[in-house]
Amino acid sequence: MKTRQWLLAAHPRGRPLEDGDFRLAETELAEPGPGQALCQTLWLGFDPAQKGWAENVADYVAPMAIGDVMRGSGIVRVVKSNTPKLREGGLYAGLTGWTEWLLTDGAGFEACHPDLPPTAMLSVLGTTGLTAWCGLFKLGRPLPGDTVLVSGAAGATGSTVGQLARVAGCRAIGIAGGPEKCHWLTGEAGYDAAIDYKAGDLRAQLRELAPGGVDVVFDNVGGAILNDMLGQIATGARVVICGGISRYGTGTLPAGPQNYFNLVFRRATMAGFIVLDWASEFPDIRRRLAALVHEGRLVFREDVQHGFEAAPATLRRLFSGANRGKQLLKVAE
Ligand code: NAP
Repeated sequence: MKTRQWLLAAHPRGRPLEDGDFRLAETELAEPGPGQALCQTLWLGFDPAQKGWAENVADYVAPMAIGDVMRGSGIVRVVKSNTPKLREGGLYAGLTGWTEWLLTDGAGFEACHPDLPPTAMLSVLGTTGLTAWCGLFKLGRPLPGDTVLVSGAAGATGSTVGQLARVAGCRAIGIAGGPEKCHWLTGEAGYDAAIDYKAGDLRAQLRELAPGGVDVVFDNVGGAILNDMLGQIATGARVVICGGISRYGTGTLPAGPQNYFNLVFRRATMAGFIVLDWASEFPDIRRRLAALVHEGRLVFREDVQHGFEAAPATLRRLFSGANRGKQLLKVAE
């Protein structure tokens, strides 16, 4: 049988993503051999890190070559299985790549949660929710009464961080682009306050909302926003560097923040992380996240686009801020 796949056609270094970075191809797929399963991709999930992978800027994943199937996660249905790891008819989440059909031995694939929609394995129970949990609790170490400040707050990860901070008894302030996203943050996503960074003077708004300083910074953006957040940290603050999406327009790594010396004056720490380092804890963290969802203490929103052809355009939505929650693409029923 044949499958359509999106292949990497150019490394998007030093510039934003373009149409020509990916090429739609048709590839022959063999029958599943011993220990293999034939799977159909139903959903694709999108992460800003995919641009970094295509650039080969990160060394925590293997480099991508021109002609490789674009790397990415998805949800599959198992159509034919010669492995006990994958049950025929079962739904699983894993690193599918941008392909409509695939053969896999099941390594790295996890069964979807029985009581939540399968897409939860890409959003609140997927890398997104796990990143929010690990970054906040392992590096941010929030204490009841702390003020937690989150950039990229209306995004998939950021909106989860704010709600987890509230569960931990903290006050959550979110930074997002535009009044509609800010309204959603305080109306539905549990944030105590929201700042529209596009409305100007972030520093002044931060001083007003957190006059005593912020105890935990969770940064998804980097650049000027991180610099302004560093200017408002409290004594003993923990600054968690989760992502730097503001750099993706240029593809260069961001310049260091001018305000970094405030870490000294405030006796603060700043640390980055890669969520995969806590993989052994993911099953337990997933159970806790699912329990919060069931208790109604954690809401999540998913932005669904349609059609396999739309994969490159769907990835670009993350960098224009078009996505509302976890960016997903529905590929098949
Ligand atoms: P997301 O936040 O749902 O989507 C990206 C959002 O970033 C956009 O909606 C947009 O919101 C904002 N944005 C885009 N360009 C921007 C810019 N130039 N300046 C400021 N904001 C900008 O994506 P996500 O999947 O949840 O990922 C969030 C962050 O977590 C990313 O940086 C990602 O790389 C990181 N991450 C890290 C790890 C790890 O292990 N360290 C794991 C997973 C994800 P606005 O409209 O508000 O601008």
